[in-house]
Amino acid sequence: SLTQTAFPESEILDRLHAVFGFNAFRGVQQDVVERVLEGRSTLAVMPTGAGKSLTYQLPAVMLPGTCIVVSPLIALMHDQLRSATANGIRAATLTSVDMDRGQTIDRFLSGDLDLLYVAPERASQPHFLEMLTRGRVAMFAIDEAHCVSEWGHDFRPDYRLLRPLMDAFPDVPRLALTATADRHTRADILAQLGIPEEGLIVAGFDRPNIRYAIVPRDNPLRQLMTVIAENPGPGIVYAPTRAQVEKLAEQLQASGRPCLPYHAGLDPQVRAANQSAFVASEDMVMVATVAFGMGIDKPDVRFVAHAACPKSIESYYQETGRAGRDGDPSVAVMLWGAEDFVRARQRLAEVEEHRRAGERTRIDALASLVETPHCRRALLLRHFGENPPPSCGNCDNCLEAPRVTDATEVARKLLSAVYRTGQSFGFGYVEKVLTGVADERVTQRAHDQLSVFGIVTADEAPLLRPLARALQARGALVATEHGGLALGGDARAILKGEADVPLVLVPKKEGRSGRRKGG
Ligand code: ADP
Ligand code: ZN
Repeated sequence: SLTQTAFPESEILDRLHAVFGFNAFRGVQQDVVERVLEGRSTLAVMPTGAGKSLTYQLPAVMLPGTCIVVSPLIALMHDQLRSATANGIRAATLTSVDMDRGQTIDRFLSGDLDLLYVAPERASQPHFLEMLTRGRVAMFAIDEAHCVSEWGHDFRPDYRLLRPLMDAFPDVPRLALTATADRHTRADILAQLGIPEEGLIVAGFDRPNIRYAIVPRDNPLRQLMTVIAENPGPGIVYAPTRAQVEKLAEQLQASGRPCLPYHAGLDPQVRAANQSAFVASEDMVMVATVAFGMGIDKPDVRFVAHAACPKSIESYYQETGRAGRDGDPSVAVMLWGAEDFVRARQRLAEVEEHRRAGERTRIDALASLVETPHCRRALLLRHFGENPPPSCGNCDNCLEAPRVTDATEVARKLLSAVYRTGQSFGFGYVEKVLTGVADERVTQRAHDQLSVFGIVTADEAPLLRPLARALQARGALVATEHGGLALGGDARAILKGEADVPLVLVPKKEGRSGRRKGG
């Protein structure tokens, strides 16, 4: 109840040391633990590696009764179970793969468990509620709480059913945990899980030792080789598909470094072996899909490279956050291309209607991160609701201010050429029309008679390709089913002169993945 006896700070610190061996809390951990011990529901937004598990495990051992932990992945639960048990915490999981379910239920009923991990689909079943009423529940911990929100990037309907379960125990505090929540998602989590607004605790998101760089992808293999060569320690290369992972793991061997693939399609034994090899290695490059990284404790990852755009700013932050957990200098390099955005925007059509706006906002946010000529870190931190200084001195744009040109005029020429040629041709064709190349395809269709034929000057011509890329990222150009370009997003506003198109000019050569020392 709300009048739960408070624990003196000294007792909390004693238990922190006795159970986990730590001498102090990190960041907001203490605030979260104290609130929960006072019986107040809380949403803790803490970046990966900030130590979320401790914030429910410590109250779980201190409060009478069992802490029910809802977690979305069985593998994650078993990781947590192992580390909790290793600390002498009485814990169990209740999942379809556990053979000792009867025994676990008995342990819960007889008050012999500090922690009970369950998946949301089990937690939302009536007989689970019935079971809880027969034992003693100390608190609810909802891990990966962004799954409850349609605004989050990983909505799981079962999370919605947790509310009625928890409402059946009005005096039991709820602790929702997530590493990834923008303002909108946060507000939604609070509302969905019945946590008061004053219960929001946000940890600092800055990872000052990570140097961010985001460059257009022109020759990915060469660009990745450069990243590897410049960063001798262990690193992760994220690629979007299993096939690309396999291929890159093969090709990057040429770097002379050990490279292994990791994706969900590999035999579980191979996957586990590759993972342990990586954890033990001091120079390995792990080429992986996003399946890799969850629950992996390797503090000395020196670089994370993305061969393509991640799904969202949240995913970017989470994936790059696997670099430099030891606090030593590390780099995060993303290679991006127009295709990444074209595909992401095409996939919008498959998204359920009521989630589409949220998805689109996420793509637009990612496009601004990629396109910004300003500090990447400042943009990231503002996205997570912080108020950072305008420049960090440790991202590509801060280290070398990019040149920005006002490409609005050229953009209008490009968009009107797309429009006048019927919104069905690819970039190469539109470029020919704009630069006045009257080849057979062009003359056959009388496109050499259009007002846009040859209107791009020799000075402007080199801007066309980066501009097309930028307009695709922004959604003003979209791909048709047959791979042609069509107008979308704010294309009309640009054509009418109501929207500007600043264009970041990326220095040629190696891009800006790092300070290149000649050669
Ligand atoms: P998260 O779930 O937020 O990603 P974890 O709970 O896995 O983070 O914790 C990350 C690492 O930090 C773990 O190795 C954990 O033992 C360590 N850790 C957590 N809290 C503390 C602390 N107060 N002092 C020292 N190490 C801590
Ligand atoms: Zn910066």
